[in-house]
Parts: sequence; C-alpha cells; structure tokens
Amino acid sequence: MVIQMEYGLIADTYERMEATSKRLEMTDHLVDLIERTPKELIDKVVYLTQGKLYPDYAGIEIGIAEKLAIRAIALATKVDEKVVRKSFERTGDLGETAQELLEGKAFKVERPLTVEKVFETLDKIARTSGRGAIETKMNLLSNLLRETSPKEAKYIVRTVTGKLRLGVADMTMLDALSVVYAGGKGARGEVERAYNISSDLGAVASTVARGGLAAIRKFGVQVGKPIRSMLAERLRTPQDILEKMGGACAAEYKYDGERIQIHKRVSEVALFSRRLENITHQYPDVVELTRKSIRAKEAIAECECVAVDLETGELRPFQELMHRRRKYGIKEAMELYPISIFAFDLLFVDGDDLTSRPYPERREHLEKVLAVSDRAGLTRYRLVRSAEELEKFFEEAIQDGCEGVVCKSVGSHAVYQAGARGWLWIKYKRDYRSEMTDTVDLVVVGAFHGRGRRAGTYGALLLGAYDPREDTFKTVTKCGAGFTDDDLARLPKMFEDYRISHRHSRVVAKLEADVWFTPSVVLEIIGAEITLSPIHICGLDKVRKGSGLAIRFPRFTGNYRLDKAPEDATTEEEIIEMYQSRLKRLPA
Ligand code: ATP
Repeated sequence: MVIQMEYGLIADTYERMEATSKRLEMTDHLVDLIERTPKELIDKVVYLTQGKLYPDYAGIEIGIAEKLAIRAIALATKVDEKVVRKSFERTGDLGETAQELLEGKAFKVERPLTVEKVFETLDKIARTSGRGAIETKMNLLSNLLRETSPKEAKYIVRTVTGKLRLGVADMTMLDALSVVYAGGKGARGEVERAYNISSDLGAVASTVARGGLAAIRKFGVQVGKPIRSMLAERLRTPQDILEKMGGACAAEYKYDGERIQIHKRVSEVALFSRRLENITHQYPDVVELTRKSIRAKEAIAECECVAVDLETGELRPFQELMHRRRKYGIKEAMELYPISIFAFDLLFVDGDDLTSRPYPERREHLEKVLAVSDRAGLTRYRLVRSAEELEKFFEEAIQDGCEGVVCKSVGSHAVYQAGARGWLWIKYKRDYRSEMTDTVDLVVVGAFHGRGRRAGTYGALLLGAYDPREDTFKTVTKCGAGFTDDDLARLPKMFEDYRISHRHSRVVAKLEADVWFTPSVVLEIIGAEITLSPIHICGLDKVRKGSGLAIRFPRFTGNYRLDKAPEDATTEEEIIEMYQSRLKRLPA
C-alpha cells in the first residue's frame, strides 16, 4: 500500500508556525503536524521542516541559486523573468514572489501534491550534477511548481533556495516527538540521547514513531552516523579542577589540531569533523592510518589530528591543517603538511557501545585496539592527584607544543556525554603564550641528526640567545623548518669547523644535542609565539620559577646573519621583554 500525505498539510502548518515565535506554540504546531503524518513518512517530514532532505552529515544540499529559481518561477508561471525579478525586488522573498505570481494565474491543479512527490523531486534536484545539471535542476523545479498551489509554491521555493527558516530547533522537534510518541516531554532526555548518538533527527523520529520509548531505549550507536561531540568546561586553576574532579583525574595533552571522529567498518572509513561534517576526502592519510592502526572490524574512535614536522617529530601549528580544507590538491597538501593522529576516546567497538562506560574503561579498550606507530598514537596521559602534579604535566604539554591539558573524570559516572559541554572534561589552557611578530637572531649551539629524507644532514639546529651579563648562550628553541634542500645539503659542511665533542663552556642547555658547536653562526628566525618551557634555559626563573622560555614553531627566514657576531644576537633580556609585552591571556 502506498502511504500518502498531502504537502498542503505541511504548508498550512508552516504558515501557522511562522505566525509565532513562542517555543511552546511552536511545539504545539509541530505536535499537530507529527500527529497527522503517517509513521512511514515522519523522517521526510522532519527533515523537510528543517529545510533539509537528510541529516547534515550526509552533506546533500538542495542548493538552488536565486538566479536559477527566478528562471524556474518564470517558466512555471509563464511570465517574463523581468516580472519575477521586479516582484522579488519588492517582496525580498522569492517564496512570496512565487506565491503571488501563481495566485494571479489560477492554474488547474490535477491532484493534490504529495509529500513524496515534493521530496522525490527535491532529492533529484540535489543529486543532479555534471554537464547540463543547471538546466535539469531548473526544469525539475519549474515542473514541480506547475503542480503546486500558490502557498505550497511559497514553501517549496524557500526550501530549495535555503530560506525556509521556520526556526525549529532540534530540541523543539525532540520535544514534539516525545509528546506524540514517547508519552510526553518527560521522555525528552531519552529521545535526545538517541539524537546525540546519531545526529539524525529523521532516524530518531522513525524509531520513536514505530516503536515508542521501548525502541528509543534500544536505539544504539551506529557506524556511519556521527556521535555528537562531548565538550569540555573550563577552569582557571589546577586546584579548582582537582576539587571539581574529586581529588584525582586523568590529565591529557590538549593537542592543537582538528578533532576527527573516525568510523570504521572493515576497510570502509568515514571521518567527521567536530561539527559533524563528513571530511573523509580531506584526510586520505587518516583513512589509511585508520585501516592500519585500528585493530577491530568496526569501531568509532575520536582523535586529534595534528600537523607534524616529520624530521624533528615536533608538532606544527593548527593553521597548517587549513591546507586540507579544499576539494583539489589534497595530495600535495598531504606531502607538504603531513599529520599524525592522537586518539583519545573509543565509543564503539565490534558491536559494543562504549558510550555509557566510564572513561578509564574506554581508554583501556582504546589502548588494546590501537596499534601505535610513528604517525598514530594515543594522547599523552597521566593520572594526577595533586595540583603540583597537574601543573607539572601542563607545563610539559606546553613544552611539547600543546595548548594545555584536558582533565577527564575517572569516576564510575564518567560516561561519554554526547552533545554536551559538561564537567566530566575540564580544559586547562591558562595561557603562557605570547605571540611573536618580530624576527630574532639566534646563535647555533648544537644540532640533531636528520631522519628519513634528511638522513646524512641535520634535522634541526639548537639555537640560543645571548646573555651579556654571564657572557653565555642560553638555548631557546630547536629549529628544523624553513631550510631549503640546498641549505640542508650544505649544513654539515658549513658547521664542520665549529664542531666540538662536548657542549661549549659558554652554552647553557638542558637538552642533549647530537652534535655541539662553538657558538659562531647567527641565523634569523621567526617564530609564532613564545611560551614557558621546562627544557629551555633562556629566561629561566625570570618569569616563572622553574621555567624558561621557548620560541614555538620557529622557522629559518633564509637569512644567515653573517654580519653579526654571536654576541650581537638577540639577548635573553629581549626575549623576556618580547614575551611579557605581548603576553596574551585567554579569558577564563
Ligand atoms: P577549544 O577551542 O578550546 O579546542 P572546543 O569548544 O573546540 O574548544 P572543547 O570541548 O572545549 O572544544 O575542548 C576540547 C577540544 O580539544 C576537543 O574538541 C578536541 O578537539 C581538542 N582536544 C585535544 N586534545 C584532546 C584530548 N586529549 N581529549 C579531548 N579533546 C582534545
């Protein structure tokens, strides 16, 4: 039996909804619409009411440009395009224009327009691509408009041009579904949970319509449907965090990259962003890493994807991932801006929904499932029980190129709160970073051997600032970026004369370089920021007890300052001054 529903019913409800801005009234209208909708069609009606055909993550957009809609309206109403444009100038709403022009025509509509017909046509419009697509889309729309009443035309045109905007929030829709099918708003929490683990209102609507609350309770995580991200609250001090966490928590490095939710089914992999867009095509390398590293048939894992310098192993700034936000040239971007992934959660594995298990258990599963390699690891993690331990770990995180730490509850109640910002995760980013705008001139005091493509030369140089009072060079950064292939090939020869077997007596360093030099050569370096550092000596104890300062994301500008003696290099004092003058404190 073909179940049908008239689109006119939907259009009438939309009209009533437009007349109110009160959430309660809005819910009532939705309840009315849902009650009149056959269960078989509820998903489609839910999507349409939000101006869509599918959940957002499917990435299927109707997307008809206004210009094209004008042509379709002109064709359907048999008027000149100029007339349509003129009306549009006046109404400012193509939907109203379509309604107005159709009202004047009184075409004979053969049979009532059904929801299926509307949905099917919009779906065709959305999926038409390639040569001749524009004409096809235009014809599909104008044919559809010929079958509509003026009011229906108004909403269809608004829908195809992305201007429906009834203001039906997800939560209002969930309220209405709960009222009609789950016994009242009291069930909203459970219905919402289904939404939070699927990001698919249509699927939730179909499930609750067919099976009520019982079916919603059984609604599980599914590979392929993104789980809405759990988010962190924020506190200012380690003391506050530990207090909130009941005295202990798992502190994890907060990597500065892009959050990716990985869905794996056998060799099929889909990747979703923090906002649940499908970003699989941007990261073929993550897809490959997933296939190699996740030892499960089916899994949903979360990770932070971070740009890395393959030579030095250092993390690179978040901005480098911007090169992945494109349709073409991904292969080049992959080579120029390689990444690593750091996994931090496992939400599903081989039929087992882990979202309601406590965090330590999820992490244990994650450790078992992930085959660690150069490019795929787990987030660095430490169980801390005191403010001092937390502070120490935080400083290590900053030093290793992270933004701070995310503290996670290890209590038995520490479930994965999909779609919520809550206190089970608390981030600590109290900032000790200061943006750098000027270049600095630093002295080469040591070097590290290169790997891979840089085997046989240096992978990074150890650089120091000058302290005129003590007449020493104090390390402030390790730089491997910005050297051309020619530079790289020349480095060992260039430094041969300065090479010594031990750290020079005028060099102060905690780091153990592979090779040490007599301080002689000065390089111009630009960095992104200056941070506190437990391993560099420059500025030690001057800004903060136990910490020095480091230049993060340093890059050689290409300028060998042959005109400068090492004693002319940027001084420790200057670095401290740069740090303090531009210190950017993040709001709490
Ligand atoms: P922010 O801009 O601070 O990253 P946000 O609103 O994107 O904030 P929050 O939930 O407040 O997200 O902070 C956690 C974010 O930090 C995650 O979305 C994730 O991208 C990132 N992150 C990095 N490392 C971790 C980790 N170990 N555990 C969880 N999230 C991490």
